[in-house]
Amino acid sequence: MDVQRETLETDVLIVGAGPAGLALAYKLASLIAEDSSVEMPEILLMEKGSYAGAHALSGAVMDPRGISELIPDFVRQGAPLEAAVSGDAMYYLRRDGALKFPFMPPSLNNHGNYVISLNKFVGWLAEKVEAAGIDIYAGLAGYDLLVEGGRVVGVQTVDMGLDKEGQPRSNFEPGSIVKAGMTVLCEGVHGSLTRHAFEKIPELVSQNLPQAYLTGVKEVWEVPQGRIKPGQVIHTVGYPQPSHEYGGGWIYGMNSNLVSVGYAVGLNSPDPTNDPHLKFQLYKAHPLVRKILEGGKMLHYGAKTIPDNGYYSMPRLYADGLMLCGDSAGMLDPQKLKGIHLAIKSGIMAAETIVEAVRKGDFSAETLRSYQERFESSWARSELYKSRNFHAGFNGGLMAGMFHAVVQMATGGRGLFDRRPRKRDHEYMLTIDKYGSRFGRVPEKTQLKFDNEYSYDKLTDVYKSGTAHEEEQPPHLQISDYDICNNRCTEEYGNPCQHFCPAQVYEMVEDTDRPGKTRLQLTPSTCVHCKTCDIADPYQVIRWVTPQGGEGPNYVNL
Ligand code: SF4
Repeated sequence: MDVQRETLETDVLIVGAGPAGLALAYKLASLIAEDSSVEMPEILLMEKGSYAGAHALSGAVMDPRGISELIPDFVRQGAPLEAAVSGDAMYYLRRDGALKFPFMPPSLNNHGNYVISLNKFVGWLAEKVEAAGIDIYAGLAGYDLLVEGGRVVGVQTVDMGLDKEGQPRSNFEPGSIVKAGMTVLCEGVHGSLTRHAFEKIPELVSQNLPQAYLTGVKEVWEVPQGRIKPGQVIHTVGYPQPSHEYGGGWIYGMNSNLVSVGYAVGLNSPDPTNDPHLKFQLYKAHPLVRKILEGGKMLHYGAKTIPDNGYYSMPRLYADGLMLCGDSAGMLDPQKLKGIHLAIKSGIMAAETIVEAVRKGDFSAETLRSYQERFESSWARSELYKSRNFHAGFNGGLMAGMFHAVVQMATGGRGLFDRRPRKRDHEYMLTIDKYGSRFGRVPEKTQLKFDNEYSYDKLTDVYKSGTAHEEEQPPHLQISDYDICNNRCTEEYGNPCQHFCPAQVYEMVEDTDRPGKTRLQLTPSTCVHCKTCDIADPYQVIRWVTPQGGEGPNYVNL
């Protein structure tokens, strides 16, 4: 479509008002306020959610190391902390029983950490950034990363007001071109512009291993008083994940009788019926979890993917005119399953680098290399390096992984091997036939009757995520080959998309043109932007592209 686009110009474009992007903006404003020799660059901070925090979702237990470096008196300044961690416990779950670990693995010891709601915490940090004089453009979504001659020069924002066929409606507003001296991607996990960066500048990812993802599904419950102490942290391994698959659950006591409960499932599952939402519902039915939720009420729901392979799957952090921060750079410690502190630290280091670049008037890779050097000599790198082989240790199943985690701790992170090669997650999925040969049975999706009291179907849960999309727009799930979906995938894998999506976007419905056959039907309006489909689809014919700005989930208390 040939349209006239407005061009905006800025020095620094920050994409994403999550922990990394906000830490970057806040630190940049602080550094420049302290140094009169550097002029404040023009900064544009854009966020695709309808407000800062609308798409922010985490367990969430926060290691304060990052925020205490950014805002040392964050407690006095009123950071919304649910509770300081008051107790830790770890359980191995069987279907009906639970075995408490006699001791906490040091990596899971949360003494000194805080239970938070990430979406509230991000809202607070956003207020700090705005008070420091940086505006946040919420509801402004990036559609394409602009790269000219190998140099990132900005972003094109999403067109608003197109119909389902991509034709302009009466309210059509073309997306703008935002030209920037430097673009910092702080989009969160598996961001679409980050993906463009990897495709258009392949050297960013030529050295790293493929990322390993989990899908985490979470609810916040209000429970009767006294059911769980604020700050109580419980982690579980085992049921309902089979022992050869990766994942586990959590229960965190928040303020005001609220509880964060969730379950995270590896996307390298061999099972084509792998369903993170269903596993979470089964998890809540386990006696250990049920006794905490009994008599309570589910208030909020959300889901997102988690980048979990750590150090060896991190991309190069810079290119000409580009830096990558937080989850966009795979900065998550898989052993602790924590990334908020690393995202904040990456924002701090990116801000320091930008000040140098502004001083030199040079945003080339040569100058931005110092961001990578800062990272390599930081505590963030030391932490990630110690857990570099953690995820790979679980390739042989839960027990092998737990044994390997102990060896890894005793060997400074090496374990029994170093940098074990891995495939992309979708390549681990087996066809129905191969699954049958390997496991002696066809994939059998557990049937759970949702009672609407403790377990919910996907659409009931999505309603509690506040998700909203305008129906009249091009689908933001782009299927490059429906023939594969409606024929080959049905026969070989049984259409895994209808299982792994935690928001029921994908359904196989009767194909009226082909009696006895089914066809794929999409409902993009329920999408919670978790990105599971883009990662787990075995044929890689699904591509998640950014819908209109301000759409998607509207998380509260998550
Ligand atoms: Fe997640 Fe894809 Fe489903 Fe959206 S459509 S909720 S991104 S799996």
